[in-house]
Amino acid sequence: MIVTLALLVMAQQQWPQHSMDRPRPPVVNPGPPPGDAIVLFDGSNLNEWRADDSAGSAAKWIVREGYIEVKPGTGTMRTARGFGDVQLHIEWATPAVAKGEGQERGNSGIFLMGIYELQVLDSYQNDTYPDGQAGAIYGQNPPLVNPIRGPGQWQAYDIIFHRPRFKADGSLERPARITVLLNGVLIQDNFELVGPTGNRQQPPYRAHADKLPLKLQDHGNPTRFRNIWVRELE
Ligand code: MG
Repeated sequence: MIVTLALLVMAQQQWPQHSMDRPRPPVVNPGPPPGDAIVLFDGSNLNEWRADDSAGSAAKWIVREGYIEVKPGTGTMRTARGFGDVQLHIEWATPAVAKGEGQERGNSGIFLMGIYELQVLDSYQNDTYPDGQAGAIYGQNPPLVNPIRGPGQWQAYDIIFHRPRFKADGSLERPARITVLLNGVLIQDNFELVGPTGNRQQPPYRAHADKLPLKLQDHGNPTRFRNIWVRELE
């Protein structure tokens, strides 16, 4: 009896090598976007987006031929749905005419769960603090390399994000982790975030919901986005 139970536990944890009883992975049309993705922007409308206010009013950014453009001064935009662990694809372009220096050139940002920022910036021949350049986990970790294209050109982020886990008492069980490719090049390799994004400060983790809206930052620059899709990993 004890042996049987032990075998059952083992079977739940690990399949014998080459077992034909093992469940098959679901077949997924690779796309893009993949067949099991939630499309957040297909070039036509902002149905999946809201203004970042308590009323959840209509998103105020501009939709043009196939892309969204930040309308400076209208504020952050967020998804209508919440997400936790995800694979996220998002393309972006900073203004073709580069204006401003450092953090003032094509700045936006992708806030996973609305809390953890992957920086968007024109980092083509534009020096700034490395933990604030394009591909940085803002204020925490610079990208491994800088495979950026020039201003006005489309850049692609492919992101694997695992949300932090919290214990029942609200303390941290496991930090958030992120892997990012910029234009197909690895720039964040399973980086463990030290907490929420802060500017000139490093706030500690605070327990939050398992799913929260994705946010895009209005930093006052008309940066563009297109081809946004997400796959839920939980
Ligand atoms: Mg930013």
